[in-house]
Amino acid sequence: MRSRRFVNALAAVLLAAGLVTGAAACAQTPPQKHPVTKTSVARGHGGAVVSDTAESTQAGLDVLRSGGTAADAAVAVASTLGVTDPYVAGIGGGGYLVYYDALTHQVSTIDGRETAPGADGAGMFLDPATGQPLSYPAAVTSGLSVGVPGTLATWQRALQRWGRYGLAEDLRPAEQVAERGFVVDATFREQTRQNAKRFAQFDSTAKLFLPGGVLPAVGSTLRNPDLAKTYREIGERGIGALYGGSIGVDVVNAVQHPPLTPRATLVARPGPMALSDLRAYQALDVDPTHVNYRGLDVYGMALSSSGGITDGEALNILGNFELPAMSRGQALHHYLEATRLAFADRNRYLGDSHYLDVPQQQLLSPSFARQRACLIDPVKAGTSPVAPGELVTGSRPCTPSGAAVTVPDHEHHTNHFVVTDGAGNVVSYTNTLEEWGGSGIVVPGRGFLLNNELTDFNFTPTQDSAPDPNLPAAGKRPRSSMSPTIVLKNGQPFLAVGSPGGTTIITTVLQILVNRVDFGMTLPDAIAAPRASQRNTPTTQAEPAFLAESTTHDLQALGHKFTINDTSPLDPTIKVSPEIGIASGLEFFPDGTVLAAGEPTRRGGSAAGVIFPTR
Ligand code: GLU
Repeated sequence: MRSRRFVNALAAVLLAAGLVTGAAACAQTPPQKHPVTKTSVARGHGGAVVSDTAESTQAGLDVLRSGGTAADAAVAVASTLGVTDPYVAGIGGGGYLVYYDALTHQVSTIDGRETAPGADGAGMFLDPATGQPLSYPAAVTSGLSVGVPGTLATWQRALQRWGRYGLAEDLRPAEQVAERGFVVDATFREQTRQNAKRFAQFDSTAKLFLPGGVLPAVGSTLRNPDLAKTYREIGERGIGALYGGSIGVDVVNAVQHPPLTPRATLVARPGPMALSDLRAYQALDVDPTHVNYRGLDVYGMALSSSGGITDGEALNILGNFELPAMSRGQALHHYLEATRLAFADRNRYLGDSHYLDVPQQQLLSPSFARQRACLIDPVKAGTSPVAPGELVTGSRPCTPSGAAVTVPDHEHHTNHFVVTDGAGNVVSYTNTLEEWGGSGIVVPGRGFLLNNELTDFNFTPTQDSAPDPNLPAAGKRPRSSMSPTIVLKNGQPFLAVGSPGGTTIITTVLQILVNRVDFGMTLPDAIAAPRASQRNTPTTQAEPAFLAESTTHDLQALGHKFTINDTSPLDPTIKVSPEIGIASGLEFFPDGTVLAAGEPTRRGGSAAGVIFPTR
């Protein structure tokens, strides 16, 4: 048997060489202390960041302090999240960025959604052997589900338009965190636990996230030198390293030949992504959606995300009612009914607008909202599925049109963060891999997970005889629900807000706006409040704390039925937290201060920070 001394000496050498991490290593070398500790609320001026982890918020604040703009800081935050929140963020995924430019007072957006490879078609999720749709778990953990990633192109586009520094500078903080490592907390360990079975199927994934074949211990340090190297290469060579270069070659290999271990028990179907798909990728400049709600200008994300249109329609519907004058139960009833109706329209009409004519203007018109609002019965919950509205010009009678259909609906897990700089520019950015851990495939030698975003397509037609707007097609972007939002009051920033949570994102953002604007809650309270999410389904998903509120009995008396969702969509035997959304936001005050607010408890709490705190 080897002596203890030999083992310790070996450990010291490996540690010095940076080759081992873990609880044992930690016990000998305490991890570096970080200046930002997690706190969900901060107020001050000179710039602010709210993100999921202390390291990413710190990276953003450091870039702001060094003179970077909100766009520079956003790239620093997002790339650091790729290290510290790697199951929901990173260059293997996509997302949507909304930007307020303090100089022009314009709100702009970038669509960095993943696209289907050119060889994909409407039947991509049908099993060729049976003609039947694949099960959701089988589709997720595969090369087939991987869309051409858009995150890196989004960063590049944001820096071209609004950045002061280049990608190399803005990636440096993340590179350092990847090199140095971060301390595993209970949230990260739990997310790894939920994914452990499938992560163990891929050599590259197990090596990174199951060091030594086990779950990383709370308090251990997780390093990602491969990702540090990848970020360095991108800094030196530009985004072409991924979009056609050597990183792209590795991505394509991983998609076409998922790196299963020889002991794998899972069939991970390959995908058709080619280098030409990566070369062709573009992040798109898209006009934001806009509605006016009680005098506020609400800007959101247009298609390929359904977020801005669906939230906009729901706000327009709610604009027909005096929520502040209602009892809380009545106001919540209207909130739930507005999204029930808006989701019927979303599911029928919304998909990638480069592939179909989407009647965005009509869906966001006050007359359409009136036509929908009159269907809300003040004393009775609607019965879902309700039918979508009829799209015609002029006023219509209070009747729905078409058939009511149900649409498969998965909740997923990503991240949202907000940044503002000293000049008053604002970023609201939701980025994602889709499921927790995306496709489960880490690109060998590159240190990042690939998304499974293409499972956001409908696998088979969902609209009876009407066309389904969200079927897969070559080059198409799957319909998203991500809803990064910026609200202006008298032309100046008032709120920036967003959340992860798949289709619940839309209701979470709406609920926060209603809480803040109609119920007069502070932004931290509006975010912390218990949530419920009605998406045109027979029951309304709710958090346990929402069910415990007395007003919920009033809602039940109106016929609302609630369910709690606490199982993993990948494996019903795995229990997950029944949280809805993990929001973050900013509120701007006339005295020039900003309130940065995130989650006090959901997913371990957010990290909020400001440059100059107010005492
Ligand atoms: N794939 C989801 C969407 O685009 C985002 C994932 C999540 O929010 O958790 O809507």
